[in-house]
Amino acid sequence: NRQIIVAELPQGELTESHYKLQDAPMPEPGDGEVLLRTVLMSIDAANRAWMQGASYRAAVKAGDVMPTYSISEVMKSNSPRLKEGDLVACEGEWADYITMPAHKCQKMPRVPRLENLLSVFGIAGKTAFHGLIQVGQPLAGETIVVSAAAGSVGGYVGQIGKALGCRVVGIAGGPEKCKWVVDHLGFDACVDYREAGLFKALRSECPNGVDVYFDNVGGDVLEAVLALMNERGRVACCGAISQYNTTNPSGPRNLPGAVVMKRLRMEGFIVMDFARDDEKATRALQAWVESGAIKVEEDVVEGLENAPKALIGLLAGDNKGKRMVRVGAD
Ligand code: NDP
Repeated sequence: NRQIIVAELPQGELTESHYKLQDAPMPEPGDGEVLLRTVLMSIDAANRAWMQGASYRAAVKAGDVMPTYSISEVMKSNSPRLKEGDLVACEGEWADYITMPAHKCQKMPRVPRLENLLSVFGIAGKTAFHGLIQVGQPLAGETIVVSAAAGSVGGYVGQIGKALGCRVVGIAGGPEKCKWVVDHLGFDACVDYREAGLFKALRSECPNGVDVYFDNVGGDVLEAVLALMNERGRVACCGAISQYNTTNPSGPRNLPGAVVMKRLRMEGFIVMDFARDDEKATRALQAWVESGAIKVEEDVVEGLENAPKALIGLLAGDNKGKRMVRVGAD
């Protein structure tokens, strides 16, 4: 049973030296517990944020096995809730096998592509759906801007926005990604934030201003978009990836000024806040996937041992769509 522990907490940039792969004994499930074999591990920007301190979950500490949202198969069950062969989602670990109280596992359907349980029907799709619709509240014809547009959450936000009849402008790193966001995902435009002149480039792609900004990155990009928001605009604060992997965070200088003058609503949210509407999200996403309105992009890295590289790469922007690690054969 291999597992990857956090050898040391990063101060600035996360590197492979912050992790260590080690062998551990095969765990034995106790009363009410199950033995799980990890099948797929979600690689999320949030994994890095968890290493910065306590948030909506406890902080990750040095010596911990790295936590991850994962899809696993029940190998042995000491609980009537689950049986051998069941597929579950839970907050697992970067490990081949773990034990878990059965009540902390959510039974999952054996869909044709298990990867979809982490992408469009997983946290990424639900975050995009709830955050855009319930927090951003876009109306047809309005302009939506979304950052980390080629990533998993951002890619769905833009495609949902198009399905709702909005103008959608993405922000992503590099010309190749921006072209892909337009040509492949169908956004109206995409602006490269690594190029100088982000504000001007965005302004020319948003001739009617910005009504909804779905913010995945915070920092300087947020500052530029705030300056283009229309009166009564909504900013759905989903995450701040530009601030997770640095010792030198930068924030928007036009806060609270822009919010006051333009009567903006900035609202943070965590996907779990909307759990009661998850079924509705899944039904809507399924219909859009079936009609072709939403393309499902998955970026699968093979092998538990490659999880550190996969997370470091995600923070550097080398993923398109939902990144995950396949640990075992499904
Ligand atoms: P993504 O698949 O979007 O990958 C992250 C992307 O962020 C990278 O591909 C990279 O693309 C971009 N990025 C990295 N650094 C920067 C930077 N300094 N400035 C701008 N963009 C950057 O990851 P996730 O889907 O896991 O996460 C996206 C966001 O959603 C995160 O902020 C995360 O915390 C948040 N989130 C929030 C949830 C909630 O409940 N509130 C739930 C799930 C996710 P590029 O090449 O374009 O730079």
